[in-house]
Amino acid sequence: MFHTFLIKYGEIGVKGKNRHLFEDALIRQIRFALKDLDGAFAIRKEQGRIFVDASEDFDEDEVIAKLKTVFGIVGFCPVMQTEKKDIPALIEDVVRYVRQVHGDAQKTFKMNVRRADKDFPSTSMELNCEIADVLLDTFPNLSVDVHEPDIMLTVEIRNEVSVYSEIIPGPGGMPVGTAGKAMLLLSGGIDSPVAGYMVAKRGVMIDAVYFHAPPYTSERAKNKVIDLARILSTYTGPIRLHIVNFTEVQLYLHEHCPDDELTILMRRYMMRIAEHFAKESEALGLVTGESIGQVASQTMQSMLVTNEVCTLPVYRPLVGFDKNEIISVAEKIGTYETSIQPFEDCCTIFVAKHPVTKPRLDVIRRSEDKVAEAIAPLVEQAVKETEILVVR
Ligand code: ATP
Ligand code: MG
Repeated sequence: MFHTFLIKYGEIGVKGKNRHLFEDALIRQIRFALKDLDGAFAIRKEQGRIFVDASEDFDEDEVIAKLKTVFGIVGFCPVMQTEKKDIPALIEDVVRYVRQVHGDAQKTFKMNVRRADKDFPSTSMELNCEIADVLLDTFPNLSVDVHEPDIMLTVEIRNEVSVYSEIIPGPGGMPVGTAGKAMLLLSGGIDSPVAGYMVAKRGVMIDAVYFHAPPYTSERAKNKVIDLARILSTYTGPIRLHIVNFTEVQLYLHEHCPDDELTILMRRYMMRIAEHFAKESEALGLVTGESIGQVASQTMQSMLVTNEVCTLPVYRPLVGFDKNEIISVAEKIGTYETSIQPFEDCCTIFVAKHPVTKPRLDVIRRSEDKVAEAIAPLVEQAVKETEILVVR
């Protein structure tokens, strides 16, 4: 087991003067991800590389699991790091590494020496050959394959020498904190947690808003959403979750509006309230888990009508996803099992059997005009009484 991990991050968007912002954000997110683990971790930035050094008493599996949650990491490698010495000593280190990691397994390999220190005697090419010769002599189980090797044995010569052959994939994306903030409409369903994950993956900080309708929706439904926010927060960092009591607004709509328009009217009020909190949190956009055509409220006509009440952009990262594609992401990020717990959602309680699938904006606006004055104080009340939890 090695105590150092080399962090690989994407180069795209990381050029020029933004580079150190990206790296600093990445280091901050790595530190955040590791902060509750056993052991102490030092993170250092050196010559265009980020390394994580772990103290003696750390759990490798735990660290690997955590690093897989940090956006911006393309991959990471457990490395053997040694002092820079002469060439025979370097080769001895590589032999020791191969013995420890690959033992006597039958494998093909390719050498990949990278010499950032140009003062080091011998070129990369010469070192590749020299090291490979010794390995072939020492390990009868190894052979060379330069096209499709089982192991790419990398030796990086910088201030120190790093030897590694395993790259564990990270989630990719951009470190959270390098873009702005967005307000996620988080329900207890499968889709919205995935939507939040996708946007956070681009470096966006996430706050969330959840609408419930007690006593028609239960405390357990609310706790499920808090659980989902907590799982999301392992990727995004702490989430300020706004829990809005939507009962009065929904009851009023239910009693005074045409049945088949309820969903769309309710969604317009949800968007307005979400936008209110977005602006309060200085978020630059809203995020939903909608996907075109998935249900009646997600036809293009319906989304046009709900979108109309928003002035902030509404990001719908799942717009082109089929349900099974969304589910496979939910499984990968660990939200699926929680999402499928069968608790009632506020949207499903008051909805019609046959909601309009192609609402007309003028018709909906006319219906809304009739109730707008009476609803305004209910909305205001709901906003005022909103509970805010910081979930981490
Ligand atoms: P999800 O799986 O995310 O619940 P869904 O397929 O059930 O989505 P809808 O109920 O039409 O679809 O909701 C569409 C989107 O509206 C959700 O993805 C979410 O962003 C938002 N939304 C729906 N209900 C709520 C709620 N109770 N609180 C907050 N946001 C909600
Ligand atoms: Mg839902």
